[in-house]
Amino acid sequence: MQQLLTRACSSVADSVGRGHVADYIPALAGIDPRRFGAAIFTRDGSHATFGDAGERFSIQSVSKVFTLAMALRAIGPALWERVGREPSGNPFNSIVQLEQERGIPRNPFINAGAIVVCDILLDFAGVEETKRRLLTLVRELAQDPTIGFDEQVADSEAETGFRNLALANFMKAFGNLRHPVDDVLDVYFHQCAIAMSTVQLARASLFLASDGQDPLTGSGYLTDDQARRICSVMLTCGHYDASGDFAFRVGLPGKSGVGGGIVAIVPGRASIAVWSPALNPSGSSHTGTLALEKIVMDARWHIL
Ligand code: GLN
Repeated sequence: MQQLLTRACSSVADSVGRGHVADYIPALAGIDPRRFGAAIFTRDGSHATFGDAGERFSIQSVSKVFTLAMALRAIGPALWERVGREPSGNPFNSIVQLEQERGIPRNPFINAGAIVVCDILLDFAGVEETKRRLLTLVRELAQDPTIGFDEQVADSEAETGFRNLALANFMKAFGNLRHPVDDVLDVYFHQCAIAMSTVQLARASLFLASDGQDPLTGSGYLTDDQARRICSVMLTCGHYDASGDFAFRVGLPGKSGVGGGIVAIVPGRASIAVWSPALNPSGSSHTGTLALEKIVMDARWHIL
């Protein structure tokens, strides 16, 4: 597996730096676009790493997988009354569908949907406790207590997140947010600002490849049905308006973030995380996507 990962990543290394870093978040604007790391974990605990695999970065929208897991665990299928599960066909921060669809976001992986998920989590605890529970979950999943928020990134998003503020206010007007907009966004900006490496991310996602149970510790986080549903939504909605292209190229459930990270799940087998900060026009890592395509083709891990 180490050889396979090294060969696959080396073969796409000349694409590193192509694209643009997410400079609409000032704290992310200065990141070196030439970084590139990858990690794989299999269900038996073996793992492989490449390049900057141990370097922490802002996981951004990849965090939407973890908050969705928390909310599904908390309220089960009732979640789908407040957020849909259809691809949006629109950019991650688009507001156009929200008016027509009366404040119900298309899916939990676009910003509006993830903001509703934060609102659901706030039914169970205050802002600080919700943030603490999220970190506790991610630390436990990754088996690494050092994972934390990058407060500089969270502040930077809070200062410039006018679109997210607009999305949240719009949903509040339609009655789809129960808690104060500022509280909901405080949680949302912090989830986006979790800093993790590809090693930590791949490890933390392994439960999704294993019916909702961590195969190495035996701890259960989701029912097999819940884990399967999350993978389904990752497959259809994990890359915003480029979800179809990701399915075409990679053929696995995946979730990207504008920090340049992507997680992909090989059901029943493995989890893969890649990171390279230069993004394609729809906001996913350019090199990361190419690397995943190559890894998955070489390993014959695609489900499609
Ligand atoms: N924090 C980012 C935002 O709200 C997350 C977007 C993303 O990673 N696609 O715009």
